Amino acid sequence: MSADTGAAGAAVATARRVAVLTGAGVSTASGIPDFRGPAAVDVWSSEPPVDAYAADPEVRRTAWRARLRHPVWTAEPNEAHRALVDLERSGRLRALLTQNVDGLHGRAGSGRVVELHGTMRATACLGCGARAPMSAALDRVRAGDPDPSCEACGGVLGPATVSFGQPLDPDVLRAARTAALDCDLMLVAGTSLLVQPAADLVVLAARAGAAVVVCNAEPTPLDGLAAAVVRAPVELVLPELVAVPRADPERPVRTWGDPSTW
Ligand SMILES: [Zn+2]
Repeated sequence: MSADTGAAGAAVATARRVAVLTGAGVSTASGIPDFRGPAAVDVWSSEPPVDAYAADPEVRRTAWRARLRHPVWTAEPNEAHRALVDLERSGRLRALLTQNVDGLHGRAGSGRVVELHGTMRATACLGCGARAPMSAALDRVRAGDPDPSCEACGGVLGPATVSFGQPLDPDVLRAARTAALDCDLMLVAGTSLLVQPAADLVVLAARAGAAVVVCNAEPTPLDGLAAAVVRAPVELVLPELVAVPRADPERPVRTWGDPSTW
């Protein structure tokens, strides 16, 4: 274990309420590429821009064909996902905030997941908002419907994800902020913290008194805030960190979520 990993492991070992923030780096070992890149493609999920999608049936037909082939349907959770399940089972996980839309945290067995950008595993109607399993829509595409419409209102169906530039669901954002204010450790894993609200959530946690640990292959703009920065693949680092035996903190933990310390 390197010095950085040791400091990060000590932070995890003494934490009582951990908020974890994950991004694309957690899923790359499951074979899901990081879709940040071509500007015309949605930053989270390889989806086309929502305006073009809503207006143009040909864009939708192309998108449905692409969804059928998406790597997420055959991807399996990796050691990073499983380590966070272990953290939850140890009773220390306050919330798992993820920017990923692949649903792999849930498939691994994590329960306290807040999906900041929604999920590819459901569809949402652009007209009436009705949600349904993505698998049902994909079955309709396979059966010959090139652009399946909402079964409730006939409107345009798309994945239940937040497109780049769209606002987040206010309830989801509130849950994420509450967790950030109520943790004693913010563990950042596999995200470069280049987009909001991810970076804001980390700053919020730090201002409320939480320690910050960043595990990411690349530098992030908030590395300076962190008690420890580990620059290595998260599927290797997270199992090591979570395996460190629990320890008592050297000083009392103070967070906004603990009224006895106000
Ligand atoms: Zn509808």
